[in-house]
Amino acid sequence: MNPKEMVGLIAATGCDVRTDAPMKALTSFKIGGPADLLIIPRTLEQLKGALAILNENETNTFILGNGSNLLVSDKGIRGAVLKLGGEFEEIKIAEENGRRLIYAGAAALLANVCRFARDHSLSGLEFAYGIPGTVGGAVYMNAGAYDGEINDVIVRAEHISRVGIVGGYNKGELKLSYRHSAYTDSGKIITGAYFELKPSGKDEITAKMEELMQKRLSKQPYTQASAGSTFKRPEGAFAAALIEESGLKGKKIRTAQVSVKHAGFIINTDANNGSSADVVELINYVKAEVKAKKNVDLKCEIALIGEGFEE
Ligand SMILES: Cc1cc2nc3c(=O)[nH]c(=O)nc-3n(C[C@H](O)[C@H](O)[C@H](O)COP(=O)(O)OP(=O)(O)OC[C@H]3O[C@@H](n4cnc5c(N)ncnc54)[C@H](O)[C@@H]3O)c2cc1C
Repeated sequence: MNPKEMVGLIAATGCDVRTDAPMKALTSFKIGGPADLLIIPRTLEQLKGALAILNENETNTFILGNGSNLLVSDKGIRGAVLKLGGEFEEIKIAEENGRRLIYAGAAALLANVCRFARDHSLSGLEFAYGIPGTVGGAVYMNAGAYDGEINDVIVRAEHISRVGIVGGYNKGELKLSYRHSAYTDSGKIITGAYFELKPSGKDEITAKMEELMQKRLSKQPYTQASAGSTFKRPEGAFAAALIEESGLKGKKIRTAQVSVKHAGFIINTDANNGSSADVVELINYVKAEVKAKKNVDLKCEIALIGEGFEE
C-alpha cells in the first residue's frame, strides 16, 4: 500500500493523520516540501498501532521532534513522518529508590522541562533552556550548550522499536558523546527520559536561565529561521571562527545566508520561499572555502532529510 492509501487504517488507531503535510510549517528553518503522511500518536497504544501498519507496509518512516535540527528537502518526504504528541508531552516528578527524578515525555519541549525543574527548585538543566528542541531530539543527539549537555543529567531513556518492542537504556547504555547517542541511526523511537537534578534556589536557577538566554540572544540569530549551528565543532577548532576567518560572514546564495551575527549559523532569509537547494549550495560553498583556506573538513550538524537527500 502506498502511504496515502493508509490514511483510513492509521486514523482507525486514533492517531491524527494528514496527507501532504508541509514540512516548512514544522521546522525552525521554515523549509521543506510535503510529507506524504504526517502521523501524530498521542498514546503508546496509538503509536504501537501506527507502527504495526507502517511495518506491514514497509513504509519509510521519519521521527520528527520540534524540527529544530533539520533541513528538509524542497521535494518533501516520501513516506511517513511520526510526530509524538499528547501523553508524550507529559512532565512530572518521579520518585525512584528514594531519588527524586524528573520524567519528561519525548515530545516535551526542553524549555518547558527547564521551567518545570525551576518551579520544583531543581538545578542542572539551565543550559538547555534556549535549545528549541524536544526531549526526544535532545537525547537523540546529546544536545548541549554552555558547558552542559544531556549526558550530565540523564538517568535513563525509554523507547519503542520499529516493531513495537518497548525498552529502555540506562545512562551507560545511552553511549552519549558529542552530538551522538545509542539512538543515532538506530531506528528506535525515544518515548521519554528521566533526569536527575540537584536541589537549588528558584531565584538562582531563574537567574542562570535568563543569563544564558541573554547570551544566546546577543550572540545568535535566535529569532531568525535556522536549524542552529550548521556544522559540528571540528577537533581543536570552532566552525564559526573558521567560517568568519575565511571571509564568509554574510555570504548569501539566494535565500540562504551565513548569519552576520554568528557565522556558525546559516539562516533562511525568506520564511515564505526559503529553499533547501539554496541552503545546500551555501553549505557546499562554505565547506569548499574553509577547506581551501583553513584545510579543515567541516561536517554538517544539521540532518538533511527527504527526497534527494538519501545517502
Ligand atoms: C536557534 C537555535 C539554537 C540552537 N541551539 C542549540 C544548542 O545550543 N545546542 C544544541 O545541541 N542544539 C541546538 N540547536 C539544535 C536543536 O535545537 C537541537 O539539536 C535539538 O536537540 C533538536 O531537537 P528537535 O526535537 O527539534 O529534533 P528534530 O530536529 O525534530 O530531530 C533531530 C533528530 O532527532 C531525531 N528525533 C527527534 N525526536 C526523536 C524521538 N522521539 N525518537 C528518536 N529520534 C528522534 C530525529 O529523527 C532527527 O534525526 C539549536 C537550534 C536552533 C534553531
